[in-house]
Amino acid sequence: MEETKCYMPETLAQALEIKSRVDAIVLAGGSDLMVSHKRTIGLTPVFDRPVMIIRNLPELRKIRVNEKGECCIGAACTSAEIAASTLVPWHVRQAANRMGAIGLRNSATIGGNIANASPKGDTLGPLYLLDARVKLQSLKSEREVLVSDFIVKFKTLDIKPDELITEVIVPYSERDFDYVFWHKVGTRKANAISKITVSMALKFNKDDTVKDFRLSATATGSKTNRSRDVENIIIGKKIDTALIEKVIQAFDEVISPRAMPEFRRESTRRMIRRFLSECARHPNNRVIETYDGYHMPGAIDPVF
Ligand SMILES: Cc1cc2nc3c(=O)[nH]c(=O)nc-3n(C[C@H](O)[C@H](O)[C@H](O)COP(=O)(O)OP(=O)(O)OC[C@H]3O[C@@H](n4cnc5c(N)ncnc54)[C@H](O)[C@@H]3O)c2cc1C
Repeated sequence: MEETKCYMPETLAQALEIKSRVDAIVLAGGSDLMVSHKRTIGLTPVFDRPVMIIRNLPELRKIRVNEKGECCIGAACTSAEIAASTLVPWHVRQAANRMGAIGLRNSATIGGNIANASPKGDTLGPLYLLDARVKLQSLKSEREVLVSDFIVKFKTLDIKPDELITEVIVPYSERDFDYVFWHKVGTRKANAISKITVSMALKFNKDDTVKDFRLSATATGSKTNRSRDVENIIIGKKIDTALIEKVIQAFDEVISPRAMPEFRRESTRRMIRRFLSECARHPNNRVIETYDGYHMPGAIDPVF
């Protein structure tokens, strides 16, 4: 029987020391790795390199707010922990709260969701939207990179063999916007890999012109999509129907869905149209999409 050498460091310092000398596969929740390395039923997965399990490292399990007021989420925090923390920005909580099913949310980590670099990763839309960064640490160095730069392309990361993602830093939250939106389209209520997710946020100036607008979408191409050029179309202007259609058309040119392209394009168009039309009406509810029919009892109330 094939054997896999397995490291189980107890501290981050130990983990970084192991990474500095062993090209080990990092295993956090294992929900992607165990599937990608699965064999036939009854046989355990086989790894061609040693494995290092990091999910119990205490340094990677904390959620805190730093001195700049940014939310810092430990890379090994699970979706369930993230969804339950009021320190975590609303968009990220929504995505964490709708990943897989309850069992999966107890093991899937945010570091794993980012490092998996799938264009369908649910936390990526919010993380791109809010300019989130990953902190990468090795024994000798530490650096921060925007998540949108860290994911170079499909399944390709800007990471060195001796580095670990240790934290995910989110500088913006719902408090920075007047209206927020997050919606996942899936084929069922749980264990549904996204057909598409759309994240949006908007802030008005006092004179009703748009101060800030952000829009990102997952599962709409080989990478999570966000374009400052598209967002700039509406910034500094008052929202009207013609402007909404201009944003929709411009974002349509950014996304490049391969499977079910017209379904994905039309869903995206409808969500943008709905969000911006609602914002223009200045409704009392800051959350435009409340995800009716998908909200689980006991889950966090999406209205803040
Ligand atoms: C049934 C099922 C349903 C799912 N549903 C969803 C869903 O709805 N939405 C969704 O987005 N995903 C879903 N997934 C995919 C998966 O659960 C997520 O991507 C999850 O966040 C992966 O996290 P993990 O900790 O399990 O990663 P792992 O499997 O442990 O690791 C994934 C990758 O990340 C690397 N990695 C992990 N942590 C670090 C770190 N700190 N530093 C550097 N590299 C690291 C690993 O080496 C590996 O390459 C589903 C998976 C399954 C099996």
